[in-house]
Amino acid sequence: MAQLSDDCFAQGDRLMSTAEALASLAETAVAVTAPIRLPLGEALGRILAEDILAGHDLPPADNSAVDGYAVHFDDLEAEAETRLPIVGRIAAGHPPQTPLARGQAARIFTGAQMPPGPDTVMMQEDCREEGDTVVIRPGIKRGANRRLRGEDFKAGDRVLGKGLRLRAQDLGQAAAAGREEVLVYAPLRVALFSTGDELREPGAALEPGAIYDSNRFALLGLLKGLGCEVRDLGILEDQPAVVEAALAEAAADHDLVVTSGGVSVGEEDHVKQAVEALGHLHLWRLAIKPGRPIAFGQIGRVPFVGLPGNPVAVMVTFMNVARPMILRLMGAAETTPRRFPVRAGFRHRKKKDRREWLRVSLEADGAGGWLARKFPREGAGILSSMVESDGLVELPEDLTELEPGASVDFLPFSEVS
Ligand code: AMP
Ligand code: MG
Repeated sequence: MAQLSDDCFAQGDRLMSTAEALASLAETAVAVTAPIRLPLGEALGRILAEDILAGHDLPPADNSAVDGYAVHFDDLEAEAETRLPIVGRIAAGHPPQTPLARGQAARIFTGAQMPPGPDTVMMQEDCREEGDTVVIRPGIKRGANRRLRGEDFKAGDRVLGKGLRLRAQDLGQAAAAGREEVLVYAPLRVALFSTGDELREPGAALEPGAIYDSNRFALLGLLKGLGCEVRDLGILEDQPAVVEAALAEAAADHDLVVTSGGVSVGEEDHVKQAVEALGHLHLWRLAIKPGRPIAFGQIGRVPFVGLPGNPVAVMVTFMNVARPMILRLMGAAETTPRRFPVRAGFRHRKKKDRREWLRVSLEADGAGGWLARKFPREGAGILSSMVESDGLVELPEDLTELEPGASVDFLPFSEVS
């Protein structure tokens, strides 16, 4: 099991680009949880801690792709029907024992092993049986409807790679390779806090000046979506001693501590101070919108991520900055979500040297593409904008004027949640 270095997030105090932040996080974050063996049926969403090699060829032998008749292609008439005697019947799971001689056809079913001899299978829809013969239409190609031994994978092939987050098809592949158990990383144990005297638990009474804590539930969803084991540790008051004690305790039995709020530069932002007292904290002033201050640090040797408090900023910075780093801590090899080109359905001006993420919903443009519609209100506190949107349009640092119709990169929420 790897360890983080003593002070892995040191960056200094300047405005940092997103690329720089991601590169720095990629360099420092390594898998921190121990590999465990799991029955294949319990491994969905876990990250592979080993390569999976095939122990055999798949298919293990040439077999039929259809229900029909196995034939020697060279017995078939090119321009006319061919009549052949039907000799034998081969079903899946019952490999034929004897070769099929020239001038004969064998009834064969999907997945059944080809008998020695024939190289082609006639689909039953292209044949008709008459007594104990089959009449075959002309026009088939040599080798048609025959699946070749090892055409899917061969013995010794790496069929799944270490660091892969297991999807349904990957479980199928591991099973096809014969694995009943797989080595995966234990789930990352994440301690999650909100901070702020104004926050209340949903369901509690709301006195003047109070709001419900929404970030914790949004973050819970994002972290669980990644496969983390999340411990919800509630709301921290804006009291330095309270924050410090709670963070120290959380770090004792978790792999990662995540908070939201309290990392700006206001006097009530106590998270910064608390983490500094317990280890290291680096307040990264990222050249981004929304988001800007994000704190990365360590409480002892446990990594700490302090996300901004504003409900949109917290999600956007999680998706774009924290998520790749958390995936690395989990042992994932691929951490960059895919962006897709769409056309901007709006005009937008932005500051140079800053990366911006806009909340958009997609609309079919009638010409086979997608048009991004920007949510009308831009505030980093407007959570409804996330609910109403399909994803984020990412505007690069060098862009200042976006014209309607221009191609932009779209990051679907489904890629990152
Ligand atoms: P802060 O970074 O603590 O100054 O918070 C910035 C803004 O986000 C303030 O308007 C807070 O009330 C709001 N905020 C912080 N944490 C939460 C939360 N957990 N749920 C909803 N809003 C929050
Ligand atoms: Mg606060």
